[in-house]
Amino acid sequence: MNQSSPYESAKELLEEASDRLRIEDWIREALMMTHRELHVTFPIEMDDGSIKIFNGYRVQHNHMRGPFKGGIRYHWDVNLDEVRALATWMTIKCAVVDIPLGGGKGGVVCNPKDMSEKELERMTRGFVRRIAPVIGSSIDIPAPDVYTNAKVMRWIVEEYNKCFGKKDLAVVTGKPLDMGGSEGREEATALGGLYVLKQVIKEGFVKGVDTLKDKRVVVQGFGNVGGIFARLAFEEGAKVIAVSDSKGAIVNNEGLDIPKVIQHKKKNGCVGDCSGSTNATNEQILELDCDILVPAALENAITTENVRMIKAGMVLELGNGSVSANADKRLSKKGIIVIPDVLANAGGVTVSYFEWKQNLAKKHWSKEEVYNKLERIMKRNTSLVLDTAKKNKVTVRLGAYIVAVSRIAEKAKIELKSSHYQCFEKLL
Ligand code: NAD
Repeated sequence: MNQSSPYESAKELLEEASDRLRIEDWIREALMMTHRELHVTFPIEMDDGSIKIFNGYRVQHNHMRGPFKGGIRYHWDVNLDEVRALATWMTIKCAVVDIPLGGGKGGVVCNPKDMSEKELERMTRGFVRRIAPVIGSSIDIPAPDVYTNAKVMRWIVEEYNKCFGKKDLAVVTGKPLDMGGSEGREEATALGGLYVLKQVIKEGFVKGVDTLKDKRVVVQGFGNVGGIFARLAFEEGAKVIAVSDSKGAIVNNEGLDIPKVIQHKKKNGCVGDCSGSTNATNEQILELDCDILVPAALENAITTENVRMIKAGMVLELGNGSVSANADKRLSKKGIIVIPDVLANAGGVTVSYFEWKQNLAKKHWSKEEVYNKLERIMKRNTSLVLDTAKKNKVTVRLGAYIVAVSRIAEKAKIELKSSHYQCFEKLL
C-alpha cells in the first residue's frame, strides 16, 4: 500500500512553511525533531489471572508556546512514528488557533474492544504510573483521543494524584463534568469543525455551496468526532447520506435519520444494519458523489490509492492525518478544497485549553460562554488561514502551517530570553 509516513509528511510541510517564512535555523531544527520521547512497558493482570506486558508512548514535540498538550490513544496500531506525527500536529494545531500550548501525544498498544472495563482501568493506571514523571498541569496535559474518553481521564487524574499525593485536576482535560471537566468538551471537536466549515462556506471557498441545508454529507467514523459531527450537520438541515465505523458503513441517498443511527449504534455497537439504510463498505462511502466528505476516523483514509475515486465537492478532515500529503496535493489539483486536520479538528484542543484555564482559576464557564469563545476562535483563525493560503497561492493545509510556524517562531525568540521559559525548562 502506497501510504506516506505521517511523521515524514508533517516534517515536509514544516520545511515548506519554514522555507517560505525564512525562519531562523535553530527554530526550524527544533520543529523538525521531538523534545522528548518516552517508551514504556508495564505488566498488567488480566481478568483471567494471566499477566500481560503492554507498550505505551508519550511523545513531547514542542513547548515553545506553552506546556505540551495532546491526547492518549488506545489502539492496536499505535506506534512511535504515529505518536510522533500526532504530537507534531498538536504543536501546529495549537498555534493555528493561537492558544498558548505546545504539542504532545500518547498511546498504548492494545485492543480496547477485547478488554473488560476493569482491565482497561488497570492498564490506564499502569500507564499513568510510568508517564507520571513527565506529565503535569504546567508540563504536559493529556486528553482523550481514539478509544479513550472522560472515564479514562478520570482514572488518569486519580492515579496521577495518588502518585504525587496531590489534588491537581488540571493534569488532564476531557474529564467528566463532576471532576472539573468543561461544558461543551465532548462536542468541541465536531462543533469546532462545523464553525470552520460555515466560515469556509461563508467566504465562498466551496463552489456552488452557500449553506449546509440539503447538502449531501458523508462521514467516515462514528465516534466522538464523526458521530457528533453527523448529528450537528443533520440538525443544520444537511442530508447525511452515508456514515461508517470500524465494522462497516450504511447509505441512504435521501439522507439518514441520524438520531436513529445514534440509537442503533448505542444498542448494537455498530452502524451496520440500521433500518432505513443499505449496508456498504467503508471504501465505497468514501467514493460517493457528495458535497462534503468528512473523514473522522484514522490516518490515511484518503491516499494516492483511492484519491482519483473521490467525487466530493470538498473534504473536511476531522480525523488526524486522514488525507495523506500526496492525496492532499492531488485533490487540490482537481479543484477539491481540503480543510486540513490542524484547523478542522482544532476545536477539541481549544475547549481542552478552556478546561485547563477553568481548573487553574477554579472557575466553571457556562456552555454558552464556551460555545461563544470557541466560535470566535475557530472563525477568526479560519479566515486567517484561508487568507494566507490565498495570498501565498498554496493549499489550505500549507496555509495553516505557515500561520502556525510564523506564530511559533515569533514566540520562540521572545521566550528563549524570558525567565519564565528558563524556569519552565527546569521543570522539564
Ligand atoms: P473515537 O474512538 O470516539 O471514534 C473513532 C471512530 O472511528 C469509531 O466510530 C470507530 O468505529 C471508527 N473507525 C475506526 N477505524 C475505522 C475505519 N477503518 N473506518 C471507519 N471507521 C473507523 O475517536 P474520536 O475521538 O472520534 O477520534 C476520531 C479522529 O479524530 C482521530 O483521528 C482523532 O485523533 C481525531 N481527533 C479527536 C479529537 C477528540 O477530541 N476526540 C480531537 C481532535 C482530533
